[in-house]
Amino acid sequence: MPTKSHLLKKASGKVFVPERQRFNLHAHFGSQNIKDQLDAYHGEHYYPRGNDGAYIEDMLMSAEHHGFNTYGFVSHLDFNRHHKISPNPQEYFPGQFNDVKLAKQYLKSQKTAIDWRNLKPSFSKLPKHYTKDMDILRGLEVDFYRGGQWRQDFQELMKNIGYDYLIGAAHNISNNNGTVVKRMWPDMQPEDFTDEVVREYFETVKAMIASGLFDFIAHIDLIAQYRPDYAQKFTKEMNEIADLLEKHNTAVEINTQGWAKQGQPFPGPEFLKILAERNIKFLISDDAHKVSEVGKDFDRAEEMLGKLGIGTDRRFEVEDLWDKKPNSNTPVIRSLLSVKRQKQGL
Ligand SMILES: [Zn+2]
Ligand SMILES: [Zn+2]
Repeated sequence: MPTKSHLLKKASGKVFVPERQRFNLHAHFGSQNIKDQLDAYHGEHYYPRGNDGAYIEDMLMSAEHHGFNTYGFVSHLDFNRHHKISPNPQEYFPGQFNDVKLAKQYLKSQKTAIDWRNLKPSFSKLPKHYTKDMDILRGLEVDFYRGGQWRQDFQELMKNIGYDYLIGAAHNISNNNGTVVKRMWPDMQPEDFTDEVVREYFETVKAMIASGLFDFIAHIDLIAQYRPDYAQKFTKEMNEIADLLEKHNTAVEINTQGWAKQGQPFPGPEFLKILAERNIKFLISDDAHKVSEVGKDFDRAEEMLGKLGIGTDRRFEVEDLWDKKPNSNTPVIRSLLSVKRQKQGL
């Protein structure tokens, strides 16, 4: 029931996501325990669990409890043929590959894991209305690298694999042809985050947007975790990024995980102010890895967008995923319709 504020509240006093955005497209599932990681790595079917041991269904129950009607799960894909993959399975990073064949197997296994048909047995425990009310989408959070080789490998990887959408991300620092890669964590130390490194990070983000591959960009200033002072020095880069987002019709998320990690969202207020001045679409993401993170701090993000005067015309909607003009650069085969068909078959 709507209250005076724009939030939905229940008698229990629990805060629900604001009515404005009833979807989240950036949540994670599974691959956190060693067995899951290994199975995922070798492309075998596995039953994924989140960081807190929760199953997909637990995440979805929470999503429904928060009032979402569409919830999108993404798997990480960090493919780069120059990655040095540790021979120790305990050090595998979910979704990190240097071999096209293995990565392809992994992508298929990730899709299967969130396939309605496979979820059906455990869904039978849920209230009947549940499966009717929730659209589940499947996406990828893709680590982007500059350079033709990566692009070619990525096209090859995505061939005949249908995901509903792609989110662009940079969790690593890489050079301009994507051949040298360092993970911000755990490869780099605080003192490694020089101005030059920040510049490389932003160059990657710029090329990521210009690639036209992505529906929206994840945690656009992730570097803020290591260089909280970046906004004072990199005004030029922030403006260039804002221009590119507008030019390439690419949306940007307000990633609410930032509040827990660094006391402010990604992007931080200075960057957000610059982005708000352009004709860019915004969406809020919880980037949930656990049940307790589903829908977290959506109200704060709504408030922030409201203060910046970002109205309904500037908000990204789920429909934008399907309306986006066909782009020959985008290798994604939309699979929403097939998801819907599977639902009806339940
Ligand atoms: Zn991420
Ligand atoms: Zn994420």
